[in-house]
Amino acid sequence: MNTGCIPTKTLVASAYAIHVAGRGAEYGFAVGDVRVDMKRVKARKDAASARSNKGVEEWLRGTKNCTVIEGHARFQSSNSVVVNDEVLEADKIYINVGGRARVPDMPGIHDVPFLDNSSMMDIDFLPKHLVIVGGSYVGLEFAQIYRRFGSEVTVVEMGPRLIWREDEDISQAVREIVEAEGIQIRLNAKCISLAKHGDGVAVRMECSDDPKEVAGTHVLLAVGRVPNTSDLDLERAGVTTDQHGYIVVDDELQTNVPGIWALGDCNGRGAFTHTSYNDYEIVADNLFNADHRRVSDRIQAYGLYIDPPLGRCGMTDAEVRKSGRRALAVKYPMSKVSRAYEKGEMQGLMKICVDAETKQILGAAILGVGGDEVIHVLLDMMYAKAPYTVVQRAMHIHPTVSEFLPTILAKLEPFV
Ligand SMILES: Cc1cc2nc3c(=O)[nH]c(=O)nc-3n(C[C@H](O)[C@H](O)[C@H](O)COP(=O)(O)OP(=O)(O)OC[C@H]3O[C@@H](n4cnc5c(N)ncnc54)[C@H](O)[C@@H]3O)c2cc1C
Repeated sequence: MNTGCIPTKTLVASAYAIHVAGRGAEYGFAVGDVRVDMKRVKARKDAASARSNKGVEEWLRGTKNCTVIEGHARFQSSNSVVVNDEVLEADKIYINVGGRARVPDMPGIHDVPFLDNSSMMDIDFLPKHLVIVGGSYVGLEFAQIYRRFGSEVTVVEMGPRLIWREDEDISQAVREIVEAEGIQIRLNAKCISLAKHGDGVAVRMECSDDPKEVAGTHVLLAVGRVPNTSDLDLERAGVTTDQHGYIVVDDELQTNVPGIWALGDCNGRGAFTHTSYNDYEIVADNLFNADHRRVSDRIQAYGLYIDPPLGRCGMTDAEVRKSGRRALAVKYPMSKVSRAYEKGEMQGLMKICVDAETKQILGAAILGVGGDEVIHVLLDMMYAKAPYTVVQRAMHIHPTVSEFLPTILAKLEPFV
């Protein structure tokens, strides 16, 4: 609530409003000089975080039999933790400590100031030139936010393309969207190092193509996350972690120690608020509702909140290919979707892949206006294990992006 989804999506909303205001002439209105007021942007963001904080804290403190203690907890044994010099014993312990930004051991890291997703939340000024190391989900969201606020923005990525976990066509479409707004992209930066540069920071990319150095006023590191497990004294409880520090859990989120579960980002089985919450549902249902739920039952789903957003569910093309299934696939540009045209937001594409035999949806990506919402039509079909033909028989509301799904599915062709 302080440094993840809620504040970033609040900033995305401010950036979107500024962006649309700047396109006033296209929509038929005139505004004066559109300029960001970072103090007010931050105040709005802080208010959104505070609202959520307050709601959750009040709910927790008001929950019967629940005591909230603020402090850093450490294990003392397999059934006790110490917090603020108080020893708490329990027969069931749930570890839900989340993660933090990874700080890579790159040359120069100790010589210059750098920002991460937490310290970005304290900014109430506009960086003149923000250099972002990392061209994946977190980095791209901040890149577009700050570009729209008015910063010069350069993204330095070590891989050959942005968001490498996505299919190449999605990576490419995302690149086109952010580049069209003036964000500079530097790929293949294999040897990144940081150095002082006047009052700012230089990000060096020695073994990449020219130019080999980008000098900015501020640098944001967005190069992944690490679990908050190194300061828990897990060894006293005997809880096992993997080589990256994630707590090893089974399909029902139990650790190797009976009576200890690990939920959320710290177990490495998800990296989102909805996967953390789903972890809770799995554990609670298994323990208290005599249900049998497993992590492997859930379908991968997430959003990338650039504008337009990317909604994703199920397999990527690469995963479908690896599975060896016979599949059908379709790709459709958002420029042909009337709802997108009416809104003046025609960037992106939709793609869907289905199993040729069962006709069930295997995976989908909707990069376009409303993509984060529309994807749920397909996600729910996947949970229902229903054939895609059900979508074609449904009457959708006009005009929406979702109403195009039956049209798109009529164009399925053998997947290659
Ligand atoms: C910039 C950014 C944007 C994001 N946007 C999205 C998004 O749009 N959608 C989405 O689904 N996810 C998003 N995420 C990911 C999301 O924030 C996390 O997946 C989610 O917060 C994980 O929840 P959690 O409960 O596992 O851990 P957290 O939310 O990290 O909570 C863990 C808590 O445990 C506390 N803690 C840690 N160690 C101890 C200890 N030893 N003793 C006591 N307390 C401790 C921490 O202080 C923290 O309060 C984003 C993340 C980032 C960084």
